[in-house]
Amino acid sequence: MSFALKLSHPGAWRAARLSTLLLALGACLPGAHAGPHWSYDGHHAGPAEWAHLDPAFEACGIGQAQSPIDIRNAVTADLPPLEFHYPDSAATLVNNGHTVQINLPAGATLKVGDRVFNLLQFHFHTPSEEAINGKHAAMVAHFVHKDADGKLGVVGLMMNVGPRANPAFAGVFAHLPREGETITVEGLTLDLAALLPKDLTYYSYAGSLTTPPCSEGVSWMVLKQPVQVSAQQVAAFRALFRHNARPVQPLHGREVLVSH
Ligand SMILES: [Zn+2]
Repeated sequence: MSFALKLSHPGAWRAARLSTLLLALGACLPGAHAGPHWSYDGHHAGPAEWAHLDPAFEACGIGQAQSPIDIRNAVTADLPPLEFHYPDSAATLVNNGHTVQINLPAGATLKVGDRVFNLLQFHFHTPSEEAINGKHAAMVAHFVHKDADGKLGVVGLMMNVGPRANPAFAGVFAHLPREGETITVEGLTLDLAALLPKDLTYYSYAGSLTTPPCSEGVSWMVLKQPVQVSAQQVAAFRALFRHNARPVQPLHGREVLVSH
């Protein structure tokens, strides 16, 4: 099992925190409009209200192929294997007010049959947005990829609480940015491949973004095998986001497949 962090020397970590002032200035620039405020709770901007917050969020209400879902009665199918080519990678951690997102430079790819996706970023939800047979995990990581046609493919990785800290995620959980912060950690390199479980059996279904604008046409690949993280790692994330999961959405006749 490889260790996730490679340091030039211990103690070399320095978090470069952009001031919220800079981000506030950025928000005023043309093209930097963040859109209407939305949230995960409350009566005004929570998931049940997303569709009404902006015409561009219409799919959140009327979409027929929305995510997340409760995965059950999956049909076994001859799905192509997930071929991850995830090299070690420098990472930038961003707290965007909805989650902590780890932005990655180009280079990591996922091949699924004929489709090649480039990994853009991964981020977390607590509890897991998707359920498997009605059961949610403590957290989920979503690995967001885009193919050459601009279509998104998202890999869901369920994260259960186990007895030990997960070393592959240690660098991330040790540097979770506060709201409005972007952090680059000097000397922090993530071993992206080590984040994944051994068994890459996956559920496949057609869905959407789980945040506004809830755009559809997203290929979802949810890994059947969860990974474990410690209660402390989950607590570190929940100190920032108590709950950031959209409720499960109706299937509307969609079929969920599972690989051999
Ligand atoms: Zn997500």
